[in-house]
Amino acid sequence: MKITEVQAIHLSVPHKKSGPEVPFVWGRLHQVIVEIKCDDGLVGYGEAFGYGIPHAVTALVNHTLRPLLVGENASDITGMIATLFQKSHIWGRYGATIFAISGVEIALWDLAGKRAGKPLYELLGGAASREVKAYASLVRYQEEDPLIAEHAARAKKEGYEMIKIHQNEVESVALAREAIGGDTPLTVDINCLWTPLEATRRAIAMDDYELTWLEEPVWPPEDYDGLADVQESSGVPLASGENACTAFQFHRMLEAGAVSYVQPSVTKVGGIGEFLKVAALAQTYNVALAPHSPYFGPGFLATLHLIAHTRQAKWIEKIYFDLEADLFASPLEPRNGVYTLPDGPGLGLDVNQDTLREFRAEE
Ligand SMILES: [Mg+2]
Repeated sequence: MKITEVQAIHLSVPHKKSGPEVPFVWGRLHQVIVEIKCDDGLVGYGEAFGYGIPHAVTALVNHTLRPLLVGENASDITGMIATLFQKSHIWGRYGATIFAISGVEIALWDLAGKRAGKPLYELLGGAASREVKAYASLVRYQEEDPLIAEHAARAKKEGYEMIKIHQNEVESVALAREAIGGDTPLTVDINCLWTPLEATRRAIAMDDYELTWLEEPVWPPEDYDGLADVQESSGVPLASGENACTAFQFHRMLEAGAVSYVQPSVTKVGGIGEFLKVAALAQTYNVALAPHSPYFGPGFLATLHLIAHTRQAKWIEKIYFDLEADLFASPLEPRNGVYTLPDGPGLGLDVNQDTLREFRAEE
C-alpha cells in the first residue's frame, strides 16, 4: 500500500449568516485539509491547524513533507511519523511544522480505517458509547456585550451542558453566569494575557462566578511554573495545552503541576498517536482531559473518536458558530448537545468534493 499523492488544500469558508450572529474579525475560517492517495485507490483526509497561517502550513505539507511521504508504505504510521519528526526537527519542534505533521498523521489513520473497513475508534480499541457530549465555546465579544448573555442562554437552551466564554473581564463573566444560571458549568478562556500575579488576582475575582476551569491565563503559555503558582494560590482549576506540541511539552506541564485539565489539540499536538500519549500521561498524573477542538473537519471527527475511546474527557469543544459550507457529504449535527460518532470506515464521513473545489483558496 504505497502513497502516491499528498496534498494540503487551503479552504476558506465564510461564516454562516444565519444562526447566532458572530462578531468575528476574520469573516471566513481558514482550514488546511490534507489529502493522501494510495496505489490501491483509497484516499484519506486529515486536518492541520491553519487559522491565521494557512499558507505556511499548506506549503510545509506540499513542499517539505510530501517528498518524504510519496512512495512510502502508508500502513506504517508510527514509523513514518517518527521519521517526519526526526527529519523536520531543525525547522521547529513546536508550531507550524508539527501542525503539518498532525494533518498528515490524521490522514494516515483515516486511510488505515478505510483499508480495514473499520471506524477509527474500533481501530484504537473500541468505545463504550458512540455518544459524546459537547460544550459550546463562544467566540470573543466586545466587553460586556449583551450578545454574551444572549448566546450563552441560547446554547444552554440548545442542550449544551457547559458554556465557555473568551472574555477577560469579570463583568462579562458575571453576564454569562447570570444568563445560564447557577447549575450550568462555566469556563473562561483568557488566551494567554497575564503575568502570574495578575492572573492570580483576576482568577480569584472571577471565581465568584464558579468557574469549572480558567483557561490559559498566563503569558507565555509555556510558563508552567507560573501556571502552577496561579492554580495553587487562587484555588481555581486551570486548563492549558492547545499551544503545546508533542507529549514532551505536556510532560513538563504535568510535572510542574500546572493544570487540572490538559487540552491537547489533535491538529497541533502531532496527531492521533501523540494525543493518545498525552491522554496516557494525564491519566498517570490523575489530571482530566479537555481537548481543544474548534474545528469543522477531520480534526473534529478525530477528537470525537479519541474522546469516545479514551473516556477521559467529559465533553468535546464545539466552537459556537457555523460555516456556509460543510466539508462532509452528510454533516454531523449535535442533537440536544450530544454528538453520535459516525461509524463509517476511518474518520467515518465522506468528504464533499464540491466543498473542496468551491472553497479552495488561491495559494
Ligand atoms: Mg483556548
